[in-house]
Amino acid sequence: MDTDLVAALDIGGTKIAGALVDGDGRILVRAQRPTPAREDGDTVMGAVEEVLGELTAAPLWGRATAVGIGSAGPVDASAGTVSPVNVPGWRGYPLVDRVRAAAGGLPVELIGDGVAITAAEHWQGAARGHDNALCMVVSTGVGGGLVLGGRLHPGPTGNAGHIGHISVDLDGDACPCGARGCVERIASGPNIARRALEGGWRPGADGDTSAAAVAAAARAGDPVAVASFARAAQALAAGIAATATLVEIDIAVIGGGVGKAGEILFAPLRRALAEYATLSFVRRLTVAPARMGTDAGLVGAAAAALTRTAGVSAAGV
Ligand SMILES: [Zn+2]
Repeated sequence: MDTDLVAALDIGGTKIAGALVDGDGRILVRAQRPTPAREDGDTVMGAVEEVLGELTAAPLWGRATAVGIGSAGPVDASAGTVSPVNVPGWRGYPLVDRVRAAAGGLPVELIGDGVAITAAEHWQGAARGHDNALCMVVSTGVGGGLVLGGRLHPGPTGNAGHIGHISVDLDGDACPCGARGCVERIASGPNIARRALEGGWRPGADGDTSAAAVAAAARAGDPVAVASFARAAQALAAGIAATATLVEIDIAVIGGGVGKAGEILFAPLRRALAEYATLSFVRRLTVAPARMGTDAGLVGAAAAALTRTAGVSAAGV
């Protein structure tokens, strides 16, 4: 494999992380800033430029050949712009041009954060060796990405595989995206917690009403908590089964905070998949927890940049 370095940026509503990454996915230099998400667009860009400034000051920068960006979405890779829901100062913001200018004119590859995590799981994580995979992040929201035919499939704008906003409940609750009954509206962490509270579950003395607290209650046998996770699992299973039926994936990898709930999520998920993924060509579909940790976004952005640099599937994505 080519040993040239690439720079990677992982831009979310909470933090902006940057790194120099080698051809084996090792992170050699790091930089990070909090995202000033409530500030104007140029202030947010200033934080990105501070991260890039630390990277360009590193002696290894001279070996960097490209910059990969994984950003909270929606992104528009064809236009080079981003409009992250949680960063209101950026709407149609020309992130690619600004990063290229701050990075000395290096080529820049932009993908959505769900696609970036998919690239990382396919390169080094739970989807490694699978030519057709759906990788999902289930946390505050629900995102995802696809690997098809052995290659990352970002789609024309970099958002393909955004499974959180396909509807699995035709007349279901209104989703902030404007549709109804989306996977995210049922399976995200806040919705798992909301449903448990509506069902009569009450938090412990610490007052923690997060999905993690609901998961702990479910493990202790609380039937309302168990049912809330089972409902989330059912929505995920319907979305995964639909995806598998459309494009013949053979594995769905689930990460994010809710993905860490373990068998409280995965046991009902496998049961529901058996109900929804019924045709012969999707029956062998498996689900697995994500293996990449908090660096998944950076590693995936690096994979996208390495692929672009080589012009072929250098990183296997
Ligand atoms: Zn939606």
